[in-house]
Amino acid sequence: MINNLVEQILMYPRPWILTGAGISTESGIPDFRSSGGLWEKVDPIENFSTWALYNNPKGFFTHGLPLFQQVLAADPNDGHIILGELQEKGFLGPVITQNVDSLHQKGGAAWVYEIHGHLRTASCMDCPQSVTMEELFTIIDQGEIPPRCECGGMLKPDVILFGDSMPNDFQDAIRLIRALNPMDNMIIVIGSSLTVSPINLFPYEFEKLAILNNSSTALDNNAEIIIRGTAGNIMQNIRQGLIELNKGEALKVLPMGFIPGRLVSMVSDIGESVASKKASITTGELDKLGADFFLLETLYKNYPHVDTREPIEKYLLNHSLEKIQALKSKYNLNRDYNNTGYIPKSLNDIIEGYFDALQSYIRQYNCQAEIARGIAQQILGLIGLYRFLGDLGIQTFDYSYIGELPDKIRQIANRLNFKLDMEKAMQDF
Ligand code: NAD
Repeated sequence: MINNLVEQILMYPRPWILTGAGISTESGIPDFRSSGGLWEKVDPIENFSTWALYNNPKGFFTHGLPLFQQVLAADPNDGHIILGELQEKGFLGPVITQNVDSLHQKGGAAWVYEIHGHLRTASCMDCPQSVTMEELFTIIDQGEIPPRCECGGMLKPDVILFGDSMPNDFQDAIRLIRALNPMDNMIIVIGSSLTVSPINLFPYEFEKLAILNNSSTALDNNAEIIIRGTAGNIMQNIRQGLIELNKGEALKVLPMGFIPGRLVSMVSDIGESVASKKASITTGELDKLGADFFLLETLYKNYPHVDTREPIEKYLLNHSLEKIQALKSKYNLNRDYNNTGYIPKSLNDIIEGYFDALQSYIRQYNCQAEIARGIAQQILGLIGLYRFLGDLGIQTFDYSYIGELPDKIRQIANRLNFKLDMEKAMQDF
């Protein structure tokens, strides 16, 4: 199953990750619903709801304080650290977490949506003032329960309680997922029972779902891949699987526009949908499919700089070539085609999706220049790939939309004040 998941991670580049309390139990923070979990000790509505905060603030802070301190003192475990490394190296995409413990950031992940808030700060419920949790603890230590701001308003940790509305990160994540469609088609859920709404609706935004958990979850029936075990252990195995494909060498950052697996899974899906029409398949449709196979086969036989690529990239190129050749035989489309297939339009759509995503991202509440730069680099890498397909001279494309993007990206880079070597980024595929 691990090998299957590693393969899917390569086929669906940069899958999104959704994590729950289970990824942090190995850091010593109890989850809610496991046996021995927190729910067996305290009643959530009685102690951790907006109702509790208003009606029994003393109870809220008395029960909450040891828990908050435990969460803040925790260190990231292998699950967080490997996830951070694989995100940085371009194997995994953004993380959506239900956790409030900041352990993803401490474990090295830069792109995290905290949809239940976090425990780094507390905000006044009456004015815009906010304080660090250490300052909050000092106020409580001085006997002021509930803790109050200078204006007299109550200070509330910046977590989402039962009864609160969802924070900006939730809307931001949904908006970005929808903008990125149809590129990002897979989500991997780690350590969540998937019983809490609306979080458990996220997987429905994706075509493929993998669940990594030590017990069954509410969405097991919807998952293509289920791996049972502890999060730290499974993440180690995923990393090990990728290193094995890299011939034992340490993993490096993947080129931003390197998506051979995705192009193969795309033609494979197109092949299936064409074939499912059986009697009504037209020769035009078959010719377009044949043109795609021919295009991708030519691409993988002529991919640039193969000699200097990482073993895992070479593996993926060979693997993709083999898959395309198998598909050609399966559909009996073995000749050379000079017409245009579905791929150029699909790639154009992906690039357009990413550009929408970049525009959506830079409007986000906590937009970070580094992440915007990453998305911009991804678009430029894909534009480079698109241009290279044209250079192969087998099909002609309309560049009108794509041709204008580098200038638009340059403007965004200037506005957000990040540096980007446009030409170099367009070679990165
Ligand atoms: P949950 O308690 O409902 O589910 C956790 C799941 O993880 C369970 O299915 C459990 O069997 C599994 N699990 C536990 N340890 C595991 C491990 N080491 N490896 C793999 N699986 C493991 O948690 P939830 O779905 O995240 O919902 C709880 C809510 O409580 C969340 O919304 C979150 O906001 C909050 N919470 C956060 C923290 C935290 O920040 N660390 C801790 C507890 C609760």
